[in-house]
Amino acid sequence: MAALVGIARMAAESPRLEAKRTVEYLSIAARSYVTRCSSDRVPFRWTINPYRGCEFGCKYCYARYAHEFMDLRDPLDFERRIFAKQFDPGLFRAELERLPGGEAVALGTATDPYQPAERRFRITRAMLEVFAQTAGLRLGITTKSDLVARDIDVFQEIARRHYLSISLTVTTMDRELARLIEPLAPRPDLRIAAVRKLRRAGIGARVFCAPVLPLINDADTSLDAIAQAAATAGAKGFGGNVLFLKPCAKQVFMPFLEERFPLLVRKYRERFERNAYIRGDYPGRIQERIARIRRRYGFDQMPKPQEPQLWPRDAQLTLFTEEPAL
Ligand code: SF4
Repeated sequence: MAALVGIARMAAESPRLEAKRTVEYLSIAARSYVTRCSSDRVPFRWTINPYRGCEFGCKYCYARYAHEFMDLRDPLDFERRIFAKQFDPGLFRAELERLPGGEAVALGTATDPYQPAERRFRITRAMLEVFAQTAGLRLGITTKSDLVARDIDVFQEIARRHYLSISLTVTTMDRELARLIEPLAPRPDLRIAAVRKLRRAGIGARVFCAPVLPLINDADTSLDAIAQAAATAGAKGFGGNVLFLKPCAKQVFMPFLEERFPLLVRKYRERFERNAYIRGDYPGRIQERIARIRRRYGFDQMPKPQEPQLWPRDAQLTLFTEEPAL
């Protein structure tokens, strides 16, 4: 076997923090926390992921590739071997302070920052506490967990210093369907309850349906139910994105489909055989459907966020135009 190098070697040497019946928590060193993102499909330039791997185990998760860098080739390792990054607040603060003013930073792009490990290790919380001592960035947080409401106190300070947007991902209001496609993520009604708590505390929280899965959660009634729940909770926005299936996600999603939705297998194979992204008019039709639903609940009329109280004079003022995809 070839000698392991870099992140793969660090993963292999990581000390075990705790092992539950099916999930193992490990500690991993981090040389830096803020990573530049070169994709032109997302509205942010920098990403931060406090963990590697994600216990929620969504069947469509595209982030499984992140474990391949550590030479962990079984796609299920992503949800069973969770690496908590060793956190150095001084190093993190220096990285944030080096970013040009006004930059968009996404927390939680390849892992959920409020997955179960966060209750124990509190790395997301520690990172937010550093954000609460700096100013002038546009921070977007994406999660499926109601644990996010734990940090309302620190969000209130961050919102005085940075533009802050929190997205709760809700793919369906149907608990049974959610349990199938996102087995260990909190129930959809708990996510909506977190939106309500955040909004009552004055935090800019919105709901995002991603991914929209063809013939599974893409009906008008299904999307409308999410938007209606979001509006009732006072969400500041609603949107959605169509599924894409990279090879690492396909390895888990297609067997899941064969087991639970066998009648859809042929159609998915046709759509995703040659490309990770669906071609044709389907994505456009879904965006039109979402736009109609946004109008139905007044999400298209939401005022732009106000400038944070301690926003530095020299920071740029471009705003988020779209939401992160997770
Ligand atoms: S919550 Fe996000 S990162 Fe975690 S498994 Fe689901 S899609 Fe992947």
